[in-house]
Amino acid sequence: MIRLFVPDDLTGASPVELSLAQAHYLRDVMRRGAGEPIALFNGRDGEWLATIIEIGRKGARATPETRLREQGPPADLELVIALVKRARLETIVEKATELGVGRIRLAVTQFTQSERANVARLAAIATEAAEQTGRLDVPEVVAPARLDAILGEWDPHRRLIFCDERGEAAPLLSSLLPLAGEGARFSILIGPEGGFSAEERTMLRALPFVIPVSLGPRILRADTAAIAALSLWQAALGDWRP
Ligand code: SAH
Repeated sequence: MIRLFVPDDLTGASPVELSLAQAHYLRDVMRRGAGEPIALFNGRDGEWLATIIEIGRKGARATPETRLREQGPPADLELVIALVKRARLETIVEKATELGVGRIRLAVTQFTQSERANVARLAAIATEAAEQTGRLDVPEVVAPARLDAILGEWDPHRRLIFCDERGEAAPLLSSLLPLAGEGARFSILIGPEGGFSAEERTMLRALPFVIPVSLGPRILRADTAAIAALSLWQAALGDWRP
C-alpha cells in the first residue's frame, strides 16, 4: 500500500488535496488511478485508508474512509547532529527517521565546515522516509544553531548522550542499560568530520545532563556513528526492547 503524508486534517468527512509531486508519483511512477486505495497520515489523526477520487496533471484528491491505525504518542528521542557534508547529512536524516527519532537538531560546532543546510530538503527526506517506514509522525528538522546556544537552552530533564570519539568514555550500551525505567528523555549528540574541539569536550563533560559514551575503538564516520548510537538506544531503552 502506498502511504502518503498530507498536511490537512483526516476526518473521514472531506477529501484532501495531494501535492503536485504526490499526484505525479501516484500517476506516472506508480500507475495509480481514480478509485484505487492509498493510505494517508498527517502526524495527528492516525493512518487512514483513502480512495483516489481525482488524478491528473494538475493534482490529485483522495477521500479518507476508514482509520487503519490510531495516532500514538510522538517519538521523543532527539538527534543533535553537527553539520556534515550534504550527502552524509541526507543519509543521517533518512536513517534517523527509520530508526525512530522525533526531532533532528542541526548543530554548528567549532569544526563544522559550513553554517547552512537546506532544511526544507532535509524535511522532505524525513517525510519520504516516514512514508516508507510506516511511521505515523514525521520527525521535525530544526534549523542550524550553534552548539553552545543549543546547550544554553537545554531542558535539564533531558539527558544528552555525547558520542565522544576520544575513547575514554564508557561504552554506550553499558552506560544506557542502567537507565532503563528511569523515564528520562534522551538526545544523542554526534560531532562533525573534524570531531569536537578540546574546549567543546571539556564544556560538554562539565554539564550535569551530559553522558559521555564511546562507540568502540574505531573512529566512525558521523553517519555510521549516528546509526550505531540510535540502534543501541532503541535496543537498550526504546522500542527494540523485548
Ligand atoms: N575526525 C575525528 C572523528 C570524527 S567522527 C577524529 O579523528 O577524532 C564524527 C563523530 O562521530 C564524532 O565527533 C563522534 O560524535 C562520533 N564518533 C565516531 N567514532 C566514535 C567512537 N568510536 N566513539 C564515540 N563516538 C564516535
